Amino acid sequence: MRYAIIADIHANLAAFIAVLDDIKRRGGVEEVWCLGDIVGYGPDPHQCLELLRQYNHICVAGNHDWAAIGKIDTSDFNPDAAAACHWTAQQLTPGDINYLDTLPLVIQRSDFTLVHGSPREPIWEYLLSTRSAKENFAYFQSQFCLVGHSHVPLVFEYDQAGACFFSEFPADTMLMLAENRLIINPGGVGQPRDGDPRASYAIYNSEARSITHYRIPYDIGATQSRMVDYRLPRRLVARLSYGV
Ligand code: ZN
Repeated sequence: MRYAIIADIHANLAAFIAVLDDIKRRGGVEEVWCLGDIVGYGPDPHQCLELLRQYNHICVAGNHDWAAIGKIDTSDFNPDAAAACHWTAQQLTPGDINYLDTLPLVIQRSDFTLVHGSPREPIWEYLLSTRSAKENFAYFQSQFCLVGHSHVPLVFEYDQAGACFFSEFPADTMLMLAENRLIINPGGVGQPRDGDPRASYAIYNSEARSITHYRIPYDIGATQSRMVDYRLPRRLVARLSYGV
């Protein structure tokens, strides 16, 4: 079976469609595993929710998903993120709100634990250092954990001797699942932050025991002009060009 691993769509419909088209081109998947932050920042929150819900999928809650429906407050958001969040709240239908409200913080699926930020702090914690990653291996039982939130594709590995290693997860590389425990981030679909502006996602192949990372070009200008039309913060528009 094959599963798409996607995170941080952030209401970027053009990026999301490009990823879904790429998945189809590669023969499709059994199920989409979404790591949260479907909405926030981008211009098409309702459309992205509607599209995701057409697929056989599972999804955990992200900080932007809950902030958009008032489930957490935006006092920890930077001013641009908070402004986009308030705009997002006005675009959601009652059905969207109900869907976001019922997203769980953690999902277990076979050998995987799915969370948005980290297993220790599913909504808020960014996993970007080996120190915090190492501590987090104590907070999930499965062999593998999938995270989003940082919008940076990467892998943390915990070996049998208890050492934790960081590795980058370059595009078009295949990660073979073996003995060691792993925390894996597929990168962000709708607002990449690793310096590569292309949409980022991964496909897990359960027979091959592999996860492959893909980068997909999309029409960045289309998303940006919609953001300008809606007067979303300029900095959020600009960053999509650079993937930062
Ligand atoms: Zn995010």
